[in-house]
Order: sequence, then structure tokens, then C-alpha cells
Amino acid sequence: MKLRLVDLGTLSGDRAYFFEGVDPGSKCDLVMIGAIIEHPKAGVILYDVGPAANDNELRHPVARAAFPITSYTEDNRLDKILNKLGYELKDVRGIILSHLHWDHAGGLEFFRGLRVPLYVHAEELKYAYYALATREDLGGYHRHYMDLRFNWRAIHGNEMELFSGVKVILTPGHTPGLLALNVDLKNSAPFIVTSDTCFLKPNYYEDKPQGWLMRDRRAWWDSLRRIQNLAARSDANVILGHDPEVLADYTKEPYYD
Ligand SMILES: [Zn+2]
Repeated sequence: MKLRLVDLGTLSGDRAYFFEGVDPGSKCDLVMIGAIIEHPKAGVILYDVGPAANDNELRHPVARAAFPITSYTEDNRLDKILNKLGYELKDVRGIILSHLHWDHAGGLEFFRGLRVPLYVHAEELKYAYYALATREDLGGYHRHYMDLRFNWRAIHGNEMELFSGVKVILTPGHTPGLLALNVDLKNSAPFIVTSDTCFLKPNYYEDKPQGWLMRDRRAWWDSLRRIQNLAARSDANVILGHDPEVLADYTKEPYYD
């Protein structure tokens, strides 16, 4: 099994979204991280798909003003990244979505018309439709990819080994159904990808709670401690949801196996 981390572009937002107690007014860059798993039995599996290539046409201008994409080139396009590895979009056998915010699921636009299974936690799927329908939480969910024609597959419970060595773990707080990823490899320590439970290093290494993007504080602390405990026990490589330094460190090697 091979695991690659990929750069799906960069967005920017006020630091007060990401860290509690920070004065608004200063921005920081967040890289959008995806993972490509080449699984010996299951084939090509993705964890998160980044934004849509034409995000500027799909997201509402107010949403784009709060979280603009500041860097997105051909090298960040998921289809081109797969092509460079010798794959087409249709070769993807499954997509695990950490949660359904636009910077993780907007890239489902690449997969329109394909019947690839989309694995998402039941609580996330329910909440995303609820949030859009009631307009109670429009922050991160966008209607363009919340399309009934996709092949949605719900995950239930606290954790599930979806494919041998590839496990998802329910870690709510940022959203109700956020799934972290744990991949066990032969020649490398396990990888844990936190997605947006931890955007950047201070969330994880300094126990810094999220700011305006926090939805359930109690659940977030439980999720943070759960990931930290799991990582310590397995000596795992921890990939934070949006940290540019972490991505740079883990893309020095083309892949881990
Ligand atoms: Zn995100």
C-alpha cells in the first residue's frame, strides 16, 4: 500500500476563525491537503478532494470573500495529479470525505457522472443537508456538490476499517461527522490525517482550540485527546488538516509505503 499527500491549493482566512481568543484582522494561509492511497486490493482510494477547479463560479461571493483561494494552479487539480501518477478519474475506486465543507468536498465536481462510492459519516451527511436546507450553518457547506446523483455511502459508528489497513475515526467538533483517517503501512509508521479537527500546528501541539469555526467545543476536546492518544500509542505521523509546513515535510518523499 502506498500513501501520498497532495497539495490541492491554498486558501486564506482570518486567524480568528482558526484560533480561539485571537484578535480579528490578521490572515493566514491554509493549504488544502488530500491523500491518495494505492491499495493492493481496493485500488485507488482518495481522502478528501479539495475545492472545485471552478470554485470562483460555484461559491457565493460572500463565502469567497471570507475564505478566498489564494493559490490554485494546474498542479493543484486533482485530475492532473492523478494523470501524473498514471491514473484517470475513473480509476478511483472510493472517496472518503473527512467532512462536507467546500475545501474538502467541492472537488467532487471532478467526479460527476462517475459512480464512485463516496464514504461520509451519516451524521455529516444528515447535517450538511440540514444546514443547507435550514440555512442555519451556511459557513462551509455549499449546494453544488451536495447532489443526490452522487453515490453517497454512509458510515456509522465511532470507527470503521473501510479497507484493510485504512480506518476512519469519528472526531466531531468542527462538524458533527468529521472523519479522521488512520493508515497502517508496512515500512513506515502509521499515518493519521486529522482533517479540520486541527487546522494548523498550534491546534494540535499547543492544545489551541479553534476559533469561529468551532461548532461543538466539548466534542472537539474529546476528539483532540482521542487523536493525540492514538498518535502517541502508535508513534504515528500526524498530518494536520491545513498546515503548509506539515505538507512540505511529508511531500519530500513522493510516497510512503
Ligand atoms: Zn478545511
